[in-house]
Amino acid sequence: MTPVQERPASRLLLIGPPGAGKGTQAARLAEYYGIPAISTGDIFRSNVKNETELGLKAKAYMDAGDNVPDSLTNDLVRDRLSEVDAAGGFLLDGYPRTADQVRELDAILLSHGHSLDAVVEIVADPEVVIERLRLRGQEQGRSDDSDSVVRHRLEVYREQTEPIIDIYGARGLLVEVNGIGEIDEVTERITSALSERGFPQPMSA
Ligand code: AMP
Repeated sequence: MTPVQERPASRLLLIGPPGAGKGTQAARLAEYYGIPAISTGDIFRSNVKNETELGLKAKAYMDAGDNVPDSLTNDLVRDRLSEVDAAGGFLLDGYPRTADQVRELDAILLSHGHSLDAVVEIVADPEVVIERLRLRGQEQGRSDDSDSVVRHRLEVYREQTEPIIDIYGARGLLVEVNGIGEIDEVTERITSALSERGFPQPMSA
């Protein structure tokens, strides 16, 4: 029997401050590498919209710009990563955000016999992201894009999420990419940086 040519799995994280363009880049990278983009923010927003039990619990934290408690977030990610489409790789956007979530993700991956391939940090100046979020707030009406909430989300990012970047740096997984520029340019920076690390070039590219 001819062996099936399987493309190597890619397990990626996308980290960066709110407004750095993670969601936009995640969708493009997911298509490029043929893996699902999993955004905990999107999952929470859809639960809020559908008024699920999880959504009702998460809403107040989200509206205030605070992280939803790890106990709720970790279960959601554990379930999502157990779905069949994530078996061959995934791109997580917006998770992990705390040291506790890093430990949980390690445990989830270990239980599947997997590990991360790279962590992409999208680097962006806070003043630039504040302006971007102000525009997004006007265009999309996201309840957590008001000025004061945006500033609080940046603080939460600095306090809770920035420190975890060093953890991945120490593991040799970190790929830093300048997030300021045209959308295409930033995507190109990310895919080039990843291909330098031996990531597969997609068949369609
Ligand atoms: P985002 O779309 O990634 O900016 O997330 C929007 C909001 O969802 C955040 O401000 C948090 O309230 C919540 N959220 C998303 N991902 C996480 C996470 N990994 N841990 C805790 N809260 C999260």
